[in-house]
Amino acid sequence: MEIETWYQRHFESLLQGRYIQLKHLEPLLDFYAKKFKIETVGHSVKGQKIVSITIGNGPEKVLAWSQMHGNESTTTKALFDFFAFISQEEDHQNTITDFLNNYTFCVIPILNPDGSAAYTRENANGIDLNRDAKKLSQPESKVLRDVFEAFQPDLCLNLHDQRTLYGLSSGKTATVSFLSPAANENRTVTKSRRVAMELISRMATVLSDMLPGHIGRYDDTFNENCVGDTFQSKSVPTILFEAGHYPGDYAREITRKYVFYAYLVLFGLYPEGEVDRIPYTSIPENEKNFRDIILRNVRFEGSDGEEDIALQYEEYLEGDKIAMVPVVDSVGKLSNYLGHKELDLEGAEILLNFHENVFEGEKVSTIVNKNANNQVFFKDSFDVF
Ligand SMILES: [Zn+2]
Repeated sequence: MEIETWYQRHFESLLQGRYIQLKHLEPLLDFYAKKFKIETVGHSVKGQKIVSITIGNGPEKVLAWSQMHGNESTTTKALFDFFAFISQEEDHQNTITDFLNNYTFCVIPILNPDGSAAYTRENANGIDLNRDAKKLSQPESKVLRDVFEAFQPDLCLNLHDQRTLYGLSSGKTATVSFLSPAANENRTVTKSRRVAMELISRMATVLSDMLPGHIGRYDDTFNENCVGDTFQSKSVPTILFEAGHYPGDYAREITRKYVFYAYLVLFGLYPEGEVDRIPYTSIPENEKNFRDIILRNVRFEGSDGEEDIALQYEEYLEGDKIAMVPVVDSVGKLSNYLGHKELDLEGAEILLNFHENVFEGEKVSTIVNKNANNQVFFKDSFDVF
């Protein structure tokens, strides 16, 4: 069966949407306990388990961790798609056997279980674990470092989501971006950085063929507090994955598929063919050129003729769903920005939340076209995932 077809039929459908916490993984961990080695490697601030899953018995050791930022779940969903692919016994059995013999893949699917439960980037102490690599002040940071030191990986995968702000000079969204982090202030291309760059080049080549113009490269400013930079500086090749926005896919159910493909390419499980690889340095750099919604050519109290209003969603946990609340991000001549959704009001005067002025940072519930006296703000802006 073609991998595309396999994926459509067999991706891990128990995990969907943005809100993924340890509780959601439990039935899967029970299921995989029969097939893979599952261990509790430590505990979070609030005493939740931090679990690792190890598959394969090969000499090449790869360590991955996802949801170090609790609300970044796309790469976690893709990891369980990957486990579903590896554990099935019908298709691609030769390459899977090679993978299991060549690699030992240790995965921490949720490094920050408290943040994942609360749907926050930070852990329960409000600390960004990706700025704690030097201090190791948090239990979750120590767990990752302990696993890193005990496992002694040959390669690390630091798995994240990026916000919808990111796009590329192609005018397309940055659906998947990569980085081979710097190992020092000078951003020298060390041996380990080069290894990471080569692997990124392979993944970016396959993904760019599937999604032309949507694959990006992150800024490589060195920060010794970041985990990737720290491991890279310890001469262990490290790859940062940033799962991003695909048009209309706020639940990141399309993006997860491309992250899954990236994992397959990385481990030699995807037929790459005889293609010219895109060199790492030719992968376009991410730009912050997108906003969620842009209202073009509007007039309001104090506007300089016709201006544009950009809205950006803020995400809130409501029960077991994520609500997306639009907030005024910026106002002015916003020709440098693209909107995931754009609406041209052709010079109409508007009332925002029933008042005449427009303030940056204001949460938006309604926008009314004052002249036509109709609501211009879209109901589906309040979708939840
Ligand atoms: Zn992150």
